[in-house]
Amino acid sequence: MTLIVQKYGGSSVADANRIVNVARRIGKAKSEGADVVAVVSAMGDTTDELIRLAQTVTQQPDPRELDLLLSTGELVSSPLLTMALRTLGLDAISLSGLQAGIHTDTMYGQARIHRIDTGRVKTELQKGRVVVVAGFQGVTEDQDVTTLGRGGSDTTAVALAAALKADRCEIYTDVDGIYTADPRVVPEALKLDEISYDEMLELASYGAKMHPRSIEVGAVFGVPIYVASSFGDAGGTLIHQGKD
Ligand code: ASP
Ligand code: MG
Repeated sequence: MTLIVQKYGGSSVADANRIVNVARRIGKAKSEGADVVAVVSAMGDTTDELIRLAQTVTQQPDPRELDLLLSTGELVSSPLLTMALRTLGLDAISLSGLQAGIHTDTMYGQARIHRIDTGRVKTELQKGRVVVVAGFQGVTEDQDVTTLGRGGSDTTAVALAAALKADRCEIYTDVDGIYTADPRVVPEALKLDEISYDEMLELASYGAKMHPRSIEVGAVFGVPIYVASSFGDAGGTLIHQGKD
């Protein structure tokens, strides 16, 4: 059975209609015979709003408390997507980072994943369910909630794909792939059909919007990463070892 990890970014789940759109896309992958783990970011600008909210209370939020606060964004989008999936008649369950077995170090705001205990996710997949995982978060050995750094849901998705030995990881966003330059700034920028991990890391360091750690994890574990738009069906970009 093909296992796909799909990640949907904040703009793809920004409102109820978009969440239903994402549920339909997951339903399509299921109907084509794949098992699906979906990783979601917080809705729209939720994370920015939560940071602003914390700053209205204190100039210097305590890092542990800030991470627990920020983790709530993904705890809203994941059950909502699960409800939308169930409404479409698909069996689905949402899991927090803790429930999904994502263990990290204690670097609040920038935590690194140490290991993933995949037991619960696998059990749910075996029941035929779509497993919706809250991105961007994990827990320390003391079960304190951590976040992985801004944009960290990409890394949740690729790390889960590696741990589950998924066939591929698909990152859905509001652009239709990786370009040679920012197409809003450089009109003649070209969309790439494929790119190596090394080249992608370089682009990410120049501001291509992917969490760099997700590409490192993909390279180390050999996870093919497909980046495409959640709003249409235009072909995206495959990040893989490939040839240079
Ligand atoms: N919601 C978090 C952020 O905005 C994580 C993510 O989007 O991947 O940074
Ligand atoms: Mg976000």
